[in-house]
Amino acid sequence: MPRKDLPALIEELKAIVGPAGFREGADIESKHFQDIMGARSVPPLILLRPADTQQVSRILKACHAAGQPVAPQGGMTGLVSAAAPLEGEISLSFERMKKVAEIDRFTSTMTVEAGVELQTIQELADANDLLFPLDLGARGSCTIGGNLSTNAGGNRVIRYGMTRDLVIGVEAVLADGTIIDGLHKLRKNNTGYDLKQLFIGSEGTLGLITRAVLKLSPKPSSQTVALCGVQDFDNVANLLVHVQTTLGSNLSAFEVLWANTYALIDEYVPHVKVPLVDQFQFYVLVESMGSNSERDSELFVDALGQASEKGLVEEVIIADSDTKVRNLWAVRDAAAEVIGVGFVHAYDVSLNIDDMGYFGEEVEKRLRAVWPDLVMGLFGHIGDGNVHIIINVGPDTRDLHLQIDEIIYGLIQELGGAVSAEHGIGLMKKQFLSYSKSEAEITLMKALKRTLDPEGILNPGRIF
Ligand code: ZN
Repeated sequence: MPRKDLPALIEELKAIVGPAGFREGADIESKHFQDIMGARSVPPLILLRPADTQQVSRILKACHAAGQPVAPQGGMTGLVSAAAPLEGEISLSFERMKKVAEIDRFTSTMTVEAGVELQTIQELADANDLLFPLDLGARGSCTIGGNLSTNAGGNRVIRYGMTRDLVIGVEAVLADGTIIDGLHKLRKNNTGYDLKQLFIGSEGTLGLITRAVLKLSPKPSSQTVALCGVQDFDNVANLLVHVQTTLGSNLSAFEVLWANTYALIDEYVPHVKVPLVDQFQFYVLVESMGSNSERDSELFVDALGQASEKGLVEEVIIADSDTKVRNLWAVRDAAAEVIGVGFVHAYDVSLNIDDMGYFGEEVEKRLRAVWPDLVMGLFGHIGDGNVHIIINVGPDTRDLHLQIDEIIYGLIQELGGAVSAEHGIGLMKKQFLSYSKSEAEITLMKALKRTLDPEGILNPGRIF
């Protein structure tokens, strides 16, 4: 319960952000009510759109003093209800903080404000002959602040790591308004605790990231992609080891579609034509990126030729033009577009590659025992041990998600996996946090929360 008179607090906040930064009632667009999964939808008390770090600091100082909860928002493309406001919360959107301060060719860094869209960063890096390797389906609408606070993953983690690995310095604001200025470009900086990591991946519960120095990589000049038909999961795992060994640092993606997902794409995504006609158990997309097209392409063709000879793959299509590369990626990306099935729950879990073949069979067996006619598909970033599952168990799918959760996360717990690989915990997974984190770990997480946000105003109730 806010301790300060709410109308007085709202007046104070209005004065901080000015008319351009303040929205209330019908002026708040519905995109601020819910994330892309849309599991819940509540309008915030008011919407604040600060113009800079100083304003963020003054907002939090006032809310901290008043005990007023704040829900920070980026592009609202999350999947676990972390940014969707709860009843009585103020939403703080970074949509006006879109400045790119600098691109530094010598340190290969870009300094940006939290509200810059991922795609803008990718394009700017590209125009400077550099690469910002973070890439995910929501690139056009997600923002770097959201990517950082959720530690987003995506398609090229196998080579470049998660968002956490792509950041050098972070500026963040604590719950009481204190600005933590860690905005430096030093790749080596062993001066005690790496404080930025408190804010990265903590889903806006420990502090709000306002600016960041991003790590850029040299822009690759070659890109080669293949789609392989594979008969069993042992061969998928052996193919991964084979391409890691033969392609070395050129390997930039290893994505897998189980046969069930491939069939769903064929049936429900008419604008994508699936290229392999024979039925395989698994479809593996392998990508190589390097700096010498002729040599890289030779290396790639050789590596896949050897995979064929070893019996790891049954059939291979290699894309030899930009259009064909795009078409093969479209098949992989279509796994997120199987909407004709009806409402689907999208799951995101992590486990050891060793366990993944068993997991795929066992999870389907346990789910089918309850819903014999369910529609499901598995796919994911298998090079990183990350599986996604889409599920529709019938017209009540939305309401039955806790029962589905129990089955999937129960198996993940048995296998020592993680209930979230890249989507985070938010509200959707918080009751399953203990399936993947020990009591001692959760106690430490709560102690950090109390230390950094003693009044509990920052995204309360998310994660735990
Ligand atoms: Zn993913």
